[in-house]
Amino acid sequence: MYLKSIELSGFKSFAKKSELLFTSPISSIVGPNGSGKSNVAEAFRFVLGEQSIKSLRGKKGEDLIFNGAGGESRSNRASVKVTFDNSNKVFGIDYPEVSIERVVHRDGINDYFINGSAVRLKDVIELLLKAHIGASGHHIISQGEADKILNSSGKDRKSMIEDALGLRLYQYKRIESDRKLKKTFENIAQVESLRKEIAPHLRFLKKQVEKMEKALGMREELARLSKEYFRREDLYVGFTKTAQRDERTPIDEKLALLSKELETAKAVLARAGEENKKGYLILDLEAEMAGARAHKDGLARELGKLEGSLDAEERIIRKQKELQTSDEHKMIRLKDVEEFARTLEQEIEKDHHILGTVIARIRDFIKGHKDSADSSLIVDAEKAIEHLKHEKEKVEHEIEKASAKELALREKYDAEKARIEKEKDSSRDAEKAVFRIMSEENDLLAKLVLIRSREENIKKDEAELVRDVEEVAAVIGHEVLQFKTFDIGSESEAVAEDRAIQENRKREIERLKIRLEEAGISGTDEVVKEFTEANERDEFLARELLDLEKSAESLKVLIQDLEERLQVEFATGIKRINTEFGELFSTMFGGGDAELVLTKEKKKKKDALLEGEDVELEGDDEDEIVEEGLDISVNLPRKKIRGLMMLSGGERALTSIALLFAISQVNPPPFIILDETDAALDEANSKRYGDMVEKLAEHSQLILITHNRETMSRAGVIYGVTMGSTGVSKLLSIEFDQAVQVAK
Ligand code: ATP
Repeated sequence: MYLKSIELSGFKSFAKKSELLFTSPISSIVGPNGSGKSNVAEAFRFVLGEQSIKSLRGKKGEDLIFNGAGGESRSNRASVKVTFDNSNKVFGIDYPEVSIERVVHRDGINDYFINGSAVRLKDVIELLLKAHIGASGHHIISQGEADKILNSSGKDRKSMIEDALGLRLYQYKRIESDRKLKKTFENIAQVESLRKEIAPHLRFLKKQVEKMEKALGMREELARLSKEYFRREDLYVGFTKTAQRDERTPIDEKLALLSKELETAKAVLARAGEENKKGYLILDLEAEMAGARAHKDGLARELGKLEGSLDAEERIIRKQKELQTSDEHKMIRLKDVEEFARTLEQEIEKDHHILGTVIARIRDFIKGHKDSADSSLIVDAEKAIEHLKHEKEKVEHEIEKASAKELALREKYDAEKARIEKEKDSSRDAEKAVFRIMSEENDLLAKLVLIRSREENIKKDEAELVRDVEEVAAVIGHEVLQFKTFDIGSESEAVAEDRAIQENRKREIERLKIRLEEAGISGTDEVVKEFTEANERDEFLARELLDLEKSAESLKVLIQDLEERLQVEFATGIKRINTEFGELFSTMFGGGDAELVLTKEKKKKKDALLEGEDVELEGDDEDEIVEEGLDISVNLPRKKIRGLMMLSGGERALTSIALLFAISQVNPPPFIILDETDAALDEANSKRYGDMVEKLAEHSQLILITHNRETMSRAGVIYGVTMGSTGVSKLLSIEFDQAVQVAK
């Protein structure tokens, strides 16, 4: 026995606190009409969470509160407390007793309590579901409602039976899961849109970071390559300078020596000059030739310089042309860009549908500049080359003239020399020496010219090296200044390397330098930080999405499980109810049979909505929905009656009692309240009713509100309710003999 007691205070006609104890499997409540018996049944509905005041015979909450009668003034609140035994933990909480209390105040506010603690209605409903006490009150049959189950629609009947079968808990769980699933889908959509929102920025940052990484790679490559190049170049310049010095020193020494010898020879000749004027001639010639040679040397140096400048200009042209092979480095004159912008402005001013035209203009502009190899630098350099070539031609011409002059002098000198050969005077040896010295000097000076030009070249190389180092340092920092520590292996092998390889290195350095300058790698740290943050956020969202998808998946599985369980339990429940129903029916009618039949009705969603049914709002109103219901099919013995409509009042009562009892047999609720369900029964059927009541009482506690003597006789405890003239219900525990009396 679960139900222990119910306590009413201020509820309807029960002005004073009144308590009913249910110590017997069957309790009966008797009393005259209007004394307040049904109020007790309603008190049960009320405390179990009934939300329809109408079904409690009121319009608003206030109607449930004792409104004053006789000398008794009205109450401020109505409260009902029901107490259950929980020693076998049927409520799933750890208390020996569970009491549920509901209070309604005059302002219509309701309070709920479980074991004295304030709770929400939801908590009460959940607690009751666990003990198989549904809120629909299928186990509380109010007065005149015995055949409610016959009168209701197939759909409502199905719902009542589902409730009685204890499927509400699953349905409740399924609705909860559906709600959670919907919420999960909403969250998924939200997270997805968040990810979509940040995706372009993330892509942009990623590209930036990749660009930077590439630039850093280029920078490292440039540092490594430049260090190698500079180290090799430095070595080459140093080695070449030493070699040139080694080559030049003996020549300089020899020339100094020869110059001294020549002085001596000249002195001898000068002394002899008084007697031999011809000696002067040779000296004059010698002086003239030295002058011519010096002039020619000067010209040769000038020529060397011009060639150097030509080289430099040609290098500029080469570099520009290299740059122009890639579109990336195409140079466009500011003048052209300004002109282009002006054209676009004009177009925009005169035309509103401009986009196409502007795009075409831009394409033309780019194409025009793509195809042109024109560059102001190249033009300038070409001009300079033309000028230098002209200068060079002039100098070459001068040199030719100087050479011719030198040659003429030499011929004259040689002739003079031959003439002197024949003479045998005192100065002959000196003259010979002069000739020999001059010849040697000539050879040496010719060599010196070559060496000097090579020295000039190496000086240029050296200066260029310094300049190049500065330039690279400006791009990648001072680290490159430490090129001297770069390991290139054997120095002699390095010096012997083909110069073309160094030139290739230099070209590669130029290329890297330009690309690096263009990449512009400032602000690296901030971009990397921003990228890392954005990426972490995206990864977090991705994980969250995965979690959400997982929980959506498990919710779907849960819903599927619940669905299957509901179907299986419903089907087996109906089967068992039908067995009981058939038996009870034929017992009551002395034959015949009855059963519940599952029906499926197709309707348009809008019709279902018009009928005020609870349907999913998503989708089209014209959609068809299938509505399941339960029909009752009866087959009376000896009568050809099949429809419920054709049953007499008593027959209806018997049929519904049989069904209610069948349902209660299959899934016995903890208690059943029957308010004058037996009103329409004759004596014979009252007896059968009494028998069935006793059978039901084996599994459920019964509270029977009745005027029926037979029914009263089955009760272990009888409560009498009286009202008298006070208008306040009074409660008393009585014996069976008194009960018959009180009931009247
Ligand atoms: P019957 O045997 O005819 O079915 P009953 O014993 O079931 O009668 P109820 O219907 O339970 O009687 O009681 C109705 C009584 O309760 C009426 O007298 C009614 O005036 C009284 N009543 C209902 N609401 C209130 C209220 N808010 N305050 C006071 N009395 C109330």
